[in-house]
Amino acid sequence: MDHVISGVAKFQKEVFPKNKAIFQKLANGQNPEVLFITCADSRIDPNLVTQTGPGELFICRNAGNIVPPHSTYTGGMTASIEFAVAALGVSHIIVCGHSDCGAMKGALAPEKLDALPHVKEWLGHCRCATEVVKAKVGDLSVEHLDDVTKENVLQQLQHLRTHPAVAAKVVSGQVQLHGWLYDIESGDVLCHDSESGEFKLIAEVYGDKPFASQNEGVAE
Ligand SMILES: [Zn+2]
Repeated sequence: MDHVISGVAKFQKEVFPKNKAIFQKLANGQNPEVLFITCADSRIDPNLVTQTGPGELFICRNAGNIVPPHSTYTGGMTASIEFAVAALGVSHIIVCGHSDCGAMKGALAPEKLDALPHVKEWLGHCRCATEVVKAKVGDLSVEHLDDVTKENVLQQLQHLRTHPAVAAKVVSGQVQLHGWLYDIESGDVLCHDSESGEFKLIAEVYGDKPFASQNEGVAE
């Protein structure tokens, strides 16, 4: 904990003064272009991986980068997504899964989660992903972690489309959806290519025009 506290002191003494103009500009409002939904895993730093700064990403995190499908129940994800899309007017939503995801390991073996009843219930939102992979490969094991992680990203994009604020703006082209996968060991970011249905390296999908060539927004 000590390094966290000394980090705040360092930020205030060294980093903040150098970037004062940015923070002054941000002090009275935010205008992020991107809603970034990723796992709560401590190894993921969305701003570091995307080389963005304060004010650029509206970030929602939870175990498994899950978006519960829309319902009349108000949850934290539902409210945050509605706020990002309807109030802040983000034009892109990225769902970013990652390698070695503990939540996905849990989804692969829910019978081991009896001591974590809330985790077990939360990962019920991934069941479509595990069932889809199971239908392709038969019995699931840890070997299928990568497949389930990818399928989960696609599943959560589907869930996003059930949120009214998102659905309306996707149909009108005001919001684009993106499925990403971050590899902790290599630093690679794979992106779902809706044409081929595969996850490819980010440069192959977007080329030199980020966001311009890719849109997961229209359900097939
Ligand atoms: Zn994770």
